[in-house]
Amino acid sequence: MNNGVQNKKALRRLHRERLRGLEPEKRKHLDAFILQNIISLPEFQSARTIMTYLSISGEVDTFPLARLILKRGKRLVVPKVIKEPAHLLACEIDSLDEGLVPDPYGIMEPDRDHTREIRIGEIDVHVIPGLAFDRSGYRLGHGGGYYDRFLSGVPKSALKAGLSFGSQILDALPKDPWDIPVDCIISEKEVLRVSRFHHMNRL
Ligand code: ADP
Ligand code: MG
Repeated sequence: MNNGVQNKKALRRLHRERLRGLEPEKRKHLDAFILQNIISLPEFQSARTIMTYLSISGEVDTFPLARLILKRGKRLVVPKVIKEPAHLLACEIDSLDEGLVPDPYGIMEPDRDHTREIRIGEIDVHVIPGLAFDRSGYRLGHGGGYYDRFLSGVPKSALKAGLSFGSQILDALPKDPWDIPVDCIISEKEVLRVSRFHHMNRL
């Protein structure tokens, strides 16, 4: 049962396992539908600059999306995790074939020579990973709080889009005062828009 009462730690364990359990063939299929749903978004089509996470195993695959962003002549921005003090750097990259190295978790990030930080306000669309999302846009991450910190500096005019397999979308997640919800959740099934009114009711 996902009744919002279970704590985040137990939910992380459950959803990490669920993500790992998806069969590769099924996953490929779902990834392709999710990509189609992103590129059909008007905000994606009109965006000049898009930031996306670079996926590791288990997550919705974002490499085809990143390649498409470059191919369409848009600016591509990816996060680089900084440990001390804990935060994400938004770095513009021109290629996925060079200048990227895996961090200790295996997440690809720009190497030292390709770390070009850009101002958060220049980013039109943010593509965000999650272990699970709820229908109000709240997100369960790996527990580092990196995206909550980062998203607190994103202007309201930008679109915050969470990527999720349909099976990771729940009715309600436990939330803490620092949790920042996304504006929409993109799964293989739908683009779920979260109304701001909904957020206000939940405060
Ligand atoms: P996640 O979002 O990765 O699921 P949590 O929401 O549990 O993880 O946040 C993890 C930690 O990150 C929290 O203990 C919190 O102290 C820290 N954190 C989150 N947002 C901020 C913030 N804006 N400033 C400072 N610390 C933060
Ligand atoms: Mg959080």
